[in-house]
Amino acid sequence: MKIVMLGAPGAGKGTQAKMIAARYEIPHISTGDIFRANIKEGTELGKKAKAFMDQGLLVPDELTLELIMDRFTKADCANGYVLDGFPRTIAQAEALTASLKAAGDALDYAIDVDVPDSAIVERMSGRRACLACGGTFHIMFNPPKVAGKCDLCGGELSIRKDDEPETVQKRLNVYHEQTQPLINYYTAAGILKSVDGTQDVNKVFDDIKDILNA
Ligand code: ADP
Ligand code: AMP
Repeated sequence: MKIVMLGAPGAGKGTQAKMIAARYEIPHISTGDIFRANIKEGTELGKKAKAFMDQGLLVPDELTLELIMDRFTKADCANGYVLDGFPRTIAQAEALTASLKAAGDALDYAIDVDVPDSAIVERMSGRRACLACGGTFHIMFNPPKVAGKCDLCGGELSIRKDDEPETVQKRLNVYHEQTQPLINYYTAAGILKSVDGTQDVNKVFDDIKDILNA
């Protein structure tokens, strides 16, 4: 099963993608997580990506595509994947469609997690992330069992630099300009499904399971 998660930054794509990955035994591939891991390790890719990410801008398509196309060659992608944060531009979506088509393949679903901008800033200000394993929590809506510690690996939780309110507003603008057009792109492809992302985390997941099990 090959799934793309769509939605504004902070809509809950990562939270749901992790639940889908665990339930359907497919890898969760987050370009944001891969960039952050590269920044942490101090790689050339990380240095290049950081400058864009800190400003709330998208990393250029060439860099992103190089990274993701390499990830698809790994053995764990044989049974599909859930993509979180990719594609984010029409050019990226077209490159993905073309590469799948060349292999006689196609995506199964693009799931849009729909959350209005008004709810996003609150979500992002409470987000706490584990840099060690990518676990994501919210101080009010999805708190870790022990404050400041990741439930999954015990790592320290931190506030993402790009979750500051000014950067969040910029990321929302970038989302509306560059990523939201993917909703029409995947509607035209006949694979778009929408879920109401303002509901409780488990209710959103129930709606997604209804789509995937249909
Ligand atoms: P994205 O991957 O779309 O940027 P995340 O999955 O990291 O978003 O979620 C953003 C923040 O909102 C996190 O702190 C997460 O715990 C919280 N969150 C995710 N889904 C919900 C939900 N349905 N209701 C309330 N908070 C949520
Ligand atoms: P995320 O963790 O998905 O919120 O992504 C964090 C940041 O990483 C984004 O604001 C972008 O700067 C960058 N990024 C992640 N995925 C992509 C992508 N597909 N294209 C361009 N930039 C990306």
